[in-house]
Amino acid sequence: MIMVMGSIPEEVDIAIIGGGVGGYVAAIRAAELGKSVTLVEKEKLGGHCLNYACIPSKTLINIADILYEARNSQKLGINGNGISVDAKAMYDWRMGVSKKLEDGVGFLCKSNGVEVIKAQGTLLSSNRLQLTNGEELDFKKAIIATGSEPASLKGFDFGGNILDYKQALMLDRIPKSMVIIGAGYVAVEIGTLYAKLGCEVHIIARSDVLSKFDKDAVDILKKKMTQFGIKVHAGAEPVSHDSESVKLSNGEMVNAEIIVVAIGLKPYTDVLGIENTKVKQDKKGFIMVDNTLKTDDDNILAIGDVIGEPMLAHKAMRQGVIAAEVASGMKSGYDNIVVPAVIFSDPEVAIAGNITGEGLTITKFPMTAIGRAIAIGKEEGFVKIACDGEGIVKGIEIVGNNASSMIAEAALAIEMGAVAEDIADTIHPHPTFSEAVQEAAEAALGRPVHFFYGKKTGGIK
Ligand SMILES: Cc1cc2nc3c(=O)[nH]c(=O)nc-3n(C[C@H](O)[C@H](O)[C@H](O)COP(=O)(O)OP(=O)(O)OC[C@H]3O[C@@H](n4cnc5c(N)ncnc54)[C@H](O)[C@@H]3O)c2cc1C
Repeated sequence: MIMVMGSIPEEVDIAIIGGGVGGYVAAIRAAELGKSVTLVEKEKLGGHCLNYACIPSKTLINIADILYEARNSQKLGINGNGISVDAKAMYDWRMGVSKKLEDGVGFLCKSNGVEVIKAQGTLLSSNRLQLTNGEELDFKKAIIATGSEPASLKGFDFGGNILDYKQALMLDRIPKSMVIIGAGYVAVEIGTLYAKLGCEVHIIARSDVLSKFDKDAVDILKKKMTQFGIKVHAGAEPVSHDSESVKLSNGEMVNAEIIVVAIGLKPYTDVLGIENTKVKQDKKGFIMVDNTLKTDDDNILAIGDVIGEPMLAHKAMRQGVIAAEVASGMKSGYDNIVVPAVIFSDPEVAIAGNITGEGLTITKFPMTAIGRAIAIGKEEGFVKIACDGEGIVKGIEIVGNNASSMIAEAALAIEMGAVAEDIADTIHPHPTFSEAVQEAAEAALGRPVHFFYGKKTGGIK
């Protein structure tokens, strides 16, 4: 319950600012712990993840995959001539998925007794929030979960045919050509999906595409991206643009009905009123927290994208649980060893932990030796497993079909301090891609079965 300005606001135990994946998870957990909770969201429950980013991109990637597979599976005996896309129906499905999930979050909040207020919140002090609906709310503890926003590029201001990733994932038509400025995972995901839908895609990479990722994985992706018709302009910068093209620093002109600026995300703290509290930000604007997610203000915690890398939904959700527990007085802390990262490319790339580093022995197992991969004609990729001298698993990288789901096993193994033998001796279902993880562990132990490495395999005895 809230009071209007001028009267004394009622105090809630925990106020949460931002109803994205970090914020709503924090709200539900705090309510489960018996606290009175108010969740303040200025736009849509589920935030960027459900409405503009993770879910919409994966929804559209699935549609693009179905179309591409149907058109390119002649070797499997499928003739996909004449298949077309209804862009409006595709758009309706994409929007419907987000709406269904947004409604689901609303239902969960309501069922758990979380009060949801649709308004923008500004901190007036370390225990009071001003809302854009004219109300004020007092709190014992607040959790900031305001997320991030797309970074802009000088000379390529958003507007007209220059879109951010949100707008690029909300098109109700398939553009003839698209230039994507930036070459991180967002550029690869958006570029691949539109290329598969039949759009001419150019990715402009200052150095190279996915330059921070494992070269073995990127080499596979680059080859596939070429097959999809994507042109990567490595070492180029966009110089200028008009309504149809972009001029590059190497003098090239590329077609650009749509220009997508995907150069990264920056923390979103607009009108949050941080200056009215003791909360501190770093040089890049990220809110600074300790390992219990407490800011420099005793009453305020922060989670998710607004506190920095890795800016991933599953990290925000985990931090939501922890922040709710800490704010509720529980002894809890953010001590996860790994945050798995996935690129929903074709093939998918997923990493948990470190696959390079001193004292690590890396063993690679190819997907070409996996029965399921051969059966469905998706043999690109591999599993790399990194173990220390005692055989403890420190990192796993998976490149291949469904790597996004398989990486959870790797994260669990690393969190539990598993050794390669634990994975090797665990029965993995056949025929599945997950067998490649088991096979990589067996190879690391020097006892490979379905791949012949020569005389010596693995470093763990
Ligand atoms: C194209 C794209 C694809 C992505 N795909 C993935 C993926 O596949 N997997 C993955 O893990 N991550 C992915 N991400 C990253 C993911 O979207 C973010 O890490 C995640 O959304 C962060 O959650 P959050 O709760 O911190 O913030 P958000 O989801 O951004 O939520 C913040 C919320 O706070 C609200 N808000 C802000 N200020 C206020 C205020 N003052 N008052 C009230 N409300 C406020 C906003 O309206 C918003 O709803 C992707 C990102 C992009 C750009």
